[in-house]
Amino acid sequence: MSTLPDVKAYDAVVVGMGPAGATAAYQLSRAGLSVLAIEKETHPRYKVCGGGLSARIDRILEDDYKSVVEHTIYGIQFSYRGADPLSLDCSSPIAYMVMRDRFDHFLVEKARQVGTEVHEDEPVTSCRQLPDGIEVTTDRGRYLAKVLIGADGANSLVAQQLFPGRRSRRMATLESEIPIGPAPHYPGTGRALIDIGATPAGYAWIFPKQERLSIGVGDLRGGLASPKKIFDQFVRDEKGLAPWKVPQPVGHPLPLFSEHSGANRESVGLVSGRALLVGDAGHLVDPLFGEGIYYAVRSGQLAAESILSQVKDERRSLADYEEAVRREIYEEFRVAVRMASIVYSYPRLCHRLLPRYQNIVMLYYDVLRGRETYQTFYARAKYVIKSSLKELLLEAVALR
Ligand SMILES: Cc1cc2nc3c(=O)[nH]c(=O)nc-3n(C[C@H](O)[C@H](O)[C@H](O)COP(=O)(O)OP(=O)(O)OC[C@H]3O[C@@H](n4cnc5c(N)ncnc54)[C@H](O)[C@@H]3O)c2cc1C
Repeated sequence: MSTLPDVKAYDAVVVGMGPAGATAAYQLSRAGLSVLAIEKETHPRYKVCGGGLSARIDRILEDDYKSVVEHTIYGIQFSYRGADPLSLDCSSPIAYMVMRDRFDHFLVEKARQVGTEVHEDEPVTSCRQLPDGIEVTTDRGRYLAKVLIGADGANSLVAQQLFPGRRSRRMATLESEIPIGPAPHYPGTGRALIDIGATPAGYAWIFPKQERLSIGVGDLRGGLASPKKIFDQFVRDEKGLAPWKVPQPVGHPLPLFSEHSGANRESVGLVSGRALLVGDAGHLVDPLFGEGIYYAVRSGQLAAESILSQVKDERRSLADYEEAVRREIYEEFRVAVRMASIVYSYPRLCHRLLPRYQNIVMLYYDVLRGRETYQTFYARAKYVIKSSLKELLLEAVALR
């Protein structure tokens, strides 16, 4: 690899130390590669996020992350525009709640402990493909990477500079954190709240943490015309929030998966030369409920695995990463797109049908636990619904 004066070279440079970057850096450093991770902020840092981890995260993270879990979720209270609440609980966890400052800091420290060199408070300002690597520039220096991982989130500079053909579909969201002290959680201990009527084509949530509630609204189809109005309406409708003053919400884009994210349909557009995109930078966010942390961690792992297998065997290609994402994540997201189109086209009907189809909700909880996939869930749910189709159609006609 060519060396430029005053330039330090690494096997891998990771841009951005959220869950995707921290996980990739951890895996690569642990395998013995020299890794530089560059983060524009200083951890622990606040991140606008519900902080809900589906319980299947247990399958991909080492157990020690539990030290930063603030609340364990066993059920969901579903409501529609603040009315008709229905709680469906079960005996084993379906999700874990974290605050992102603590969770991300934990992952960054793990990477540092196995040898990642972490530069904080150092925004990357440009990256450039060279014949045998990538040059990364910040206001403090220049670095050379044999391989670059773009893990810099929804507004990824790496994606803009090295993947110019990628299209983005970024949805508007708003979130606030209500400090509640030792008061009992709302809507109840071990329970999150989801309201699919609160926004035109998305949902509002209340996720309990230690001594606070994360509440927010997100539109998963078209973009909210006036997110603040919708947020305020949700707070007004949700009478259980009345005892607390709700701080002003903060916005952040959510880069949902779409069929057209890649430059073209053959390539999913996550690898360009010696650069890979992971997590939000690659739009790896579930189009049904906007879950991104699991996919950030998983894509960080898949990217690291692909880099490591190429280090061992030069005949392997970084394109293996794209193939792994296509197989493991995109197949799931395609089914999630279909599910989202049903849920957000007929939110009222879906809510009305919940009491009748509690078994489908329990099946969905198994997706959250990793016991079912979206693909197996969809096939099973379709069968259950088909068996009662006539009744369902009459109800749909009555409600439209
Ligand atoms: C309102 C809201 C609620 C959400 N709720 C949930 C939820 O409950 N559960 C869930 O699973 N997902 C949720 N998500 C999605 C989730 O937050 C993201 O999918 C997840 O953070 C992606 O992780 P990441 O590591 O790819 O990116 P990020 O977590 O965004 O990390 C990117 C990092 O890159 C750094 N960076 C950016 N630019 C540069 C630069 N130029 N140089 C150096 N560093 C840079 C940033 O400072 C940041 O630390 C939510 C998102 C929003 C907006």
